[in-house]
Amino acid sequence: MSTPDPSTAFALSGKLAVITGAASGIGRETARVFVASGAHVVLADRDAAALAAFAGELGASATAVPTDVSVRAQVEALADAASAIAPIDAWVNAAGVVAPPTMVVDVDEATIDRLIAINLKGVYFGSAAAARRMVAHGRGSIINISSQGAEIPAPGLSVYSITKAGVNALTRTLAAEVGPVGVRVNAVAPGFIDTPMISYRFVREDGTADQAAKEALFAARAANAPLGRVGEPLDIARVILFLASDAASFVTGETLRANGGADMR
Ligand code: NAP
Repeated sequence: MSTPDPSTAFALSGKLAVITGAASGIGRETARVFVASGAHVVLADRDAAALAAFAGELGASATAVPTDVSVRAQVEALADAASAIAPIDAWVNAAGVVAPPTMVVDVDEATIDRLIAINLKGVYFGSAAAARRMVAHGRGSIINISSQGAEIPAPGLSVYSITKAGVNALTRTLAAEVGPVGVRVNAVAPGFIDTPMISYRFVREDGTADQAAKEALFAARAANAPLGRVGEPLDIARVILFLASDAASFVTGETLRANGGADMR
């Protein structure tokens, strides 16, 4: 028997993928990589204007569906809009937020509710909407974006951390539920990635960036990783591509750590 062409297994030719958080950072880069790999992408984000502009950039391979992932009816409408194009092959839950570092003893309830609503319930709603439709078709891949923060204690980031730990638990449970019909569910746990999400660490109140603070932060994070650098959105987008593709056909229930080696277990 001849070996199948590996480039085919890693491609998404003719496949339909939904990506939340697609207007920025990891979700945005994932959309670019998926389109380059042959997919049609349905882009979801709460920033409708940024989403429309990005969809315009990607052309006929992209459809924008403004969505607030914390509102279940909007996530279901997103799934319906995507299903109207074609059966959903891949669904990436990348929308997420972080709150300014605050110790457990000082976190207010509104912050807890907001992060749980977006990072945990948003991923739950997306996973459920995707799984229901994928089960009906007997195939599909769901990829949830978790974080290194789910496993490594980071003082001040307790709420973010528990939402991501919940994402890991959801990923495994759903993988066990839908595996028997051929649907795969995995998570990616990025380390420190250079996206707008981490800019709160060096952007001043007036919106300008403190370059010295940024360089010191990046140097410290790079020194913490055996690969000696911080991550780029493309580093994560390619891992997501692998999990979405047929190359990962025997991978489910995993949380794949992509962090330059900063967290080895
Ligand atoms: P990002 O650049 O801020 O992108 C996240 C996107 O999600 C933004 O466009 C954001 O919009 C959107 N979003 C937030 N709440 C939403 C909602 N309720 N409905 C729809 N869209 C919403 O951040 P990123 O770094 O790419 O983060 C992507 C994922 O990776 C997140 O789940 C994050 O937790 C995870 N992650 C990131 C890192 C890192 O170091 N960057 C590390 C580990 C894990 P707004 O701009 O309006 O908020």
